[in-house]
Amino acid sequence: MRPARSRSLALLALALLQLPAALASLPARAASALAAWSFTDNGVLELRTATGARLEAFFEAGDRRQGPRVWIDFPGELSRSRSVRGSGALREIRLGKPTPGSTRLVLEFQPGVELDPARLKLVGTAADRWKLVFEGMPTRGLRAIGEGDLTARSGGWSSGVQITPTRTPINAAGLPDVPRGRYHVVIDPGHGGPDPGAVGIAGLRETDVVLDISFQVAQLLEAKGVQVTMTRTADVDVDLPPRVALANRVGATAFVSIHANAISMSRPEVNGIETFYFSDPRSARLAARIQRQVLNVSPGSPDRGVRQGRFFVIRRTTMPSSLVETGFVTGGLDSPRLATAAHRRRLALAIATGILEYLQEAR
Ligand code: ZN
Repeated sequence: MRPARSRSLALLALALLQLPAALASLPARAASALAAWSFTDNGVLELRTATGARLEAFFEAGDRRQGPRVWIDFPGELSRSRSVRGSGALREIRLGKPTPGSTRLVLEFQPGVELDPARLKLVGTAADRWKLVFEGMPTRGLRAIGEGDLTARSGGWSSGVQITPTRTPINAAGLPDVPRGRYHVVIDPGHGGPDPGAVGIAGLRETDVVLDISFQVAQLLEAKGVQVTMTRTADVDVDLPPRVALANRVGATAFVSIHANAISMSRPEVNGIETFYFSDPRSARLAARIQRQVLNVSPGSPDRGVRQGRFFVIRRTTMPSSLVETGFVTGGLDSPRLATAAHRRRLALAIATGILEYLQEAR
């Protein structure tokens, strides 16, 4: 959905992430960009990657049962999932492919280990080298582990990626619980059919992005015992009044419309997340929950805020409703992410978490 006002709040965060000259995404099954890694006995993670690879790093605090986790996503598919036992404060390092065509390196620490995400930063030390120092981590008992050759020649410099603190679960098992069979949520994938919505970099279409995310949100909510109705389940055009009528007819507990944003193709510096509601406080709470979660999984993408909007689907629905813009298909940062299945999976987990958190509070 095109915003009525397009502000350029986006400039700041771009410096945090590498912006490749070519924005075309890798072929789906390219080999993993992770070439070698090591974790030293003084608590430093070192990585060698394909030159210019785009990395994303995440942090999740621990609880009594599970230690804190840091994970890093790389483009390209890992050949073989595996885990390597750690020592000292480091419980284990796992390598996996959360979705086809991707690679994830997870560092899981022992329960009780305290890490401050504000002090964690994955720094590019060369075009193909990265370093993450776990400042303040106890190093007693750590043994060096690693795989591959870290010493291969490299050149050039790249910028760092800030670690993002998140409570967004990394898989369906971590979603918040709500009483089964009590709630009914309508998920509205924006646009469809002859109306592709926004079309962005490399032909990325809003309709495709939001349909994929919406299907996954629906499936995640259903797995938690929430009844879900989708306003469309294929690439077809559904007018706005029938979407609203459907939601009002089924007596939904909440209505969430999922979109991606756009501005001129000549404004790739404009990126960001925003969630709209029309007027009532419950809708505002729903929007705030979703916004926070989507920001969690979109490191570096600006917070454009929880905002009042007059969009038909949120204005005319009779239950708490909100409309989330998951990023700009025209954005140099957002668009390549929205094009990847791994990011759409995280967005689905984030939106489902936001909805479940709202339902928990609404009880
Ligand atoms: Zn839209």
